[in-house]
Amino acid sequence: MSVAAVRRLVILGKQGAGKGTQCELLVERYGVAHISTGDMLRAAVAADTPLGRQAKEVMDAGELVSDELILGIVAERLEAPDTAAGFLLDGFPRTEAQADGLFALLAPHAVSRAIDLDVADDIVTRRMLDRGRADDTPEAIARRLELYEAETAPLRRLFADRGVLVAVDGLGTPAEVHQRIVAAIEAAPSSTVSAIEAAP
Ligand code: AMP
Repeated sequence: MSVAAVRRLVILGKQGAGKGTQCELLVERYGVAHISTGDMLRAAVAADTPLGRQAKEVMDAGELVSDELILGIVAERLEAPDTAAGFLLDGFPRTEAQADGLFALLAPHAVSRAIDLDVADDIVTRRMLDRGRADDTPEAIARRLELYEAETAPLRRLFADRGVLVAVDGLGTPAEVHQRIVAAIEAAPSSTVSAIEAAP
């Protein structure tokens, strides 16, 4: 058990649940690669690449970019050498097809923890309206919450079936929430997964 755990983390949570802040803290703590599909898409939009042009309208409307496109960019990103030390997936997977794609991409490895950052709808809605990003119109926010419930919330079961889901209360200061997440990540059974993977 001397092998340091390679952390392959997923963070689930609605927009405005505090994923961005928590991801920064986790990346600093564990030295994992931060893979945010939203950030990658926004960068593509800003650079006006073909991908960005394809994604922009969909994003502005609060809809989901196609699974095929998302799986393509994630597959490419997971090939970068920095992911060998572990990674944190943020905003992905968002649909069952994306989750299936992820499990296939990672095999024979597994996700070590999926953190479900839980904050109620009315609170995230207020936070998003307050932060005032250009794509945060009331209509787009409502649509994203609806899609979260329909497409992403069911993924909890897939991760629970694999024994890696942990629910974390997202209310509190960033430091408090971070401590809860760390406790959830470091509790068994992730060491079991690493021990199995490290076996000759
Ligand atoms: P985010 O910053 O993660 O909230 O993503 C912003 C927007 O990018 C979303 O509202 C979607 O339109 C799109 N997007 C980001 N990640 C995904 C994903 N995994 N699947 C589909 N669309 C995504």
